[in-house]
Amino acid sequence: MITPVMPTYGRWNVAVERGEGCYLYATDGHKYLDFTSGIAVTSLGHCHPHLIDAVTEQAKKLWHSSNLFRIPGQERLAQRLVENSFADTVFFNNSGAEAVELSIKVARKYQSETGHPERYRVIACNGSFHGRSFATLAAAGAEAYLKGFGPVMDGFDHVAWDNLNEMRAAVNDKTAALLVEPVQGEGGVRAPSQDFLKGMRAICDEFGLLLIYDEVQCGLGRTGKLFAHEWAGVTPDIMAVAKALGNGFPIGACLATEKAAVGMVPGTHGSTFGGNPMAVAAGNAVLDVMLEPGFLERAERMSQMFRGRLEDLVGKHRNLFDHVRGAGLLIGVKCVITPGDFVTKLRENGLLCLTAGDNVLRILPPLIVTEAEIDQAMGVFEKVAREWPKS
Ligand SMILES: *Cc1c(COP(=O)(O)O)cnc(C)c1O
Repeated sequence: MITPVMPTYGRWNVAVERGEGCYLYATDGHKYLDFTSGIAVTSLGHCHPHLIDAVTEQAKKLWHSSNLFRIPGQERLAQRLVENSFADTVFFNNSGAEAVELSIKVARKYQSETGHPERYRVIACNGSFHGRSFATLAAAGAEAYLKGFGPVMDGFDHVAWDNLNEMRAAVNDKTAALLVEPVQGEGGVRAPSQDFLKGMRAICDEFGLLLIYDEVQCGLGRTGKLFAHEWAGVTPDIMAVAKALGNGFPIGACLATEKAAVGMVPGTHGSTFGGNPMAVAAGNAVLDVMLEPGFLERAERMSQMFRGRLEDLVGKHRNLFDHVRGAGLLIGVKCVITPGDFVTKLRENGLLCLTAGDNVLRILPPLIVTEAEIDQAMGVFEKVAREWPKS
């Protein structure tokens, strides 16, 4: 018999009750060190006091109004995102998929408005993840997720990850934009080679295409900069963010330059809930913390320390692990064994981690993680690795 909750997830048997900082507590009393962060969402940890205050205050004032009204908190959040990025304008929605989907709409509209309505196709990379809507599934092109859902939406071409020659060769007179995760998350926690984004920017400039970044997972401090592409110093025309923007309150955003958003005039896009007063109260509170001087630098220091220790672990257990990859606190450990089995053992020992594609163990601690919590996690990694059956 089907469960009342539609069974689309293979769920862990951990019934969550409450959280505090890096810890998650289950209804049966179990306490876990949470290095999943709700899949790169709760980057400030669970129940951050500043966020509780901001959302509680807003809950007493106004929950929702619709975007027919001016929403001061939304204007403020947009202004702050603009001041801290390449963008000139922001549209708020409720999820990563919606933010990516709008990014694609903005790019097509730009081409249409600037005399190229025939340019509608987007080139994306193999191994990407962009969401579960029809357009974002087609954008990523992962067959496993598309199977059984009918004709795949037209308009997307795919090339190998981190291969500029293939990317350049795939451009044709119907191409509107290039879409990329500056660091791939879901697909295997992969950072591209140093000049990849720069090369994509050059292709866009040469052919009159727009560059779209999907920073839904790697953005908002996850790699030690506010946005992952800052490491490469190459800005896009359009960017999708979501996950950590509300620290668990659903909010996503599509950021764009004035040039790219030329066609986005009244009536061209909308969302009932997007950027409502509650969501933007959460978003503003997240930025209050993340933009505090030293916050991101501290997260980056933790990442370097953690990575160093994971590299030592990998060196000691070559039969289990291959190498450490990713960027900042978006950490991947390429495994020799099945990472899902390892994640189960970690969980049984009180540590929550994830898997990603390409046989990778994915570790996403909150950005507020301390050295003591990393010590605790390393103790669990070492124990599980030591006890792993020799084959
Ligand atoms: C999670 C994710 C999405 C989809 O976000 P949802 O909020 O689940 O729709 C899109 N792109 C990337 C890179 C993601 O990691």
